[in-house]
Amino acid sequence: MWMVKFEWRTVVFIRRAVDASIIFARMISEKSVFLKARKEESLLRKHPWVFSGAIKRLEGAPVTGDLVAVHANKGRLLGYGHYSRNTSIAVRMLSFEEAILDQEWWNNRIGQAVVIRRDLGLLEGKDQNICRLVHAEGDGLSGLIIDYYDRIAVIQTHSSGMHREIERIKNALIHELPELKGIYNKSAKVLRKSGIETVEDGFIYGEEPTDWGPKERGRSFVIDLKQGQKTGFFIDQRENRTLLSSLAEGRNVLNVFSYTGGFSVSALQGGALKACSLDSSSRALELAEQAVGLNSFSTGDHEIIEADAMEYLKGGVADFDIVVLDPPAFAKSASARHQAIQGYKRINQRAIQSMKPGGLLFTFSCSQAVDDRLFTHTIIAAAIQSSRTVRILHRLHQPADHPVSAFHPEGAYLKGLVLRID
Ligand code: SAH
Repeated sequence: MWMVKFEWRTVVFIRRAVDASIIFARMISEKSVFLKARKEESLLRKHPWVFSGAIKRLEGAPVTGDLVAVHANKGRLLGYGHYSRNTSIAVRMLSFEEAILDQEWWNNRIGQAVVIRRDLGLLEGKDQNICRLVHAEGDGLSGLIIDYYDRIAVIQTHSSGMHREIERIKNALIHELPELKGIYNKSAKVLRKSGIETVEDGFIYGEEPTDWGPKERGRSFVIDLKQGQKTGFFIDQRENRTLLSSLAEGRNVLNVFSYTGGFSVSALQGGALKACSLDSSSRALELAEQAVGLNSFSTGDHEIIEADAMEYLKGGVADFDIVVLDPPAFAKSASARHQAIQGYKRINQRAIQSMKPGGLLFTFSCSQAVDDRLFTHTIIAAAIQSSRTVRILHRLHQPADHPVSAFHPEGAYLKGLVLRID
């Protein structure tokens, strides 16, 4: 009996010694970031950003793009993340525990994201095969967006560290999604903003299937992988478009900032008499026309208006029963917040003032720097100045495939209201 005990204890002792030496060896060979005293608290709560001001010293001379171990002031390991030198977010955390971020780790992390979307029924339905597969911090992968369009994954890396992982990301996608036919890297434009010029867009695996048919809740769209904005489509409005569809029967709908016609196609799906897509991009409007043509349900008229939205709204919207305002992010950073608020207020006031009695306004903001409360207050301010009777019927958000980490509330970026104007 004591022999067994002795062996077991010896094994445990040897294992601990080996573990400790591995950890020690990694500590001295790794590139590391040590935080100032008491700056570890947000990381202990699994908030994934380390700001540059929280860093006390660096070890191993990390450069932008390196994977670093992050330690508290007294040396406790807090996790691993991608380091970036001249940005206010200095480390984007990937793991909050001792880990080796090898291919298996990537398969697991991306695999979890895939399971969530499969469980939501968003991946492989006949009528529904467009979704966000990886939503950055919401999926524990700060700096990474992956959108899925009927067997094609489109990757957008937002940091140099994440871009260095592209092979592992690709392998993980192939491993976790047997139905995948192609992977398109669409990171060039975002990375260029961070001074990385060497990345080019294009397929890094497979190609577009000949029977490619991206669909959202029964609506077909044209996705322009090469020239489209973001990854080609604004997936985040899926459920809000479905709400519009349910209210559109017999109505005239104006879709301002339409891009490729997401809300217009939805209105026609719901039986709208007419949908007008308004955008400043002629290419987007061309694709909106094509999308309407792809859908056999569209018996209503589709009209395109190439115009500046601010100018157009000056003329009022009295010809329409439902108006959608889904502008690009007016505030790209906190410093632009004030000006953004003025912009939101102006366009909403113009719409509210001139709406038909009984009209519905779907109004949105996708600016992260403008939170739910501030947006609602801005719309209320616009409503007050318009001297109309305004009711809030719905409060809208981003859908479940754009999850928000409970530890990173900043991830909630899309907000919207449906107003009834009398
Ligand atoms: N509602 C769309 C997404 C909107 S993205 C959807 O559901 O897919 C924002 C759009 O606003 C882009 O297509 C951009 O071309 C357009 N845009 C930006 N500034 C504009 C302006 N001043 N006037 C008209 N359109 C504008």
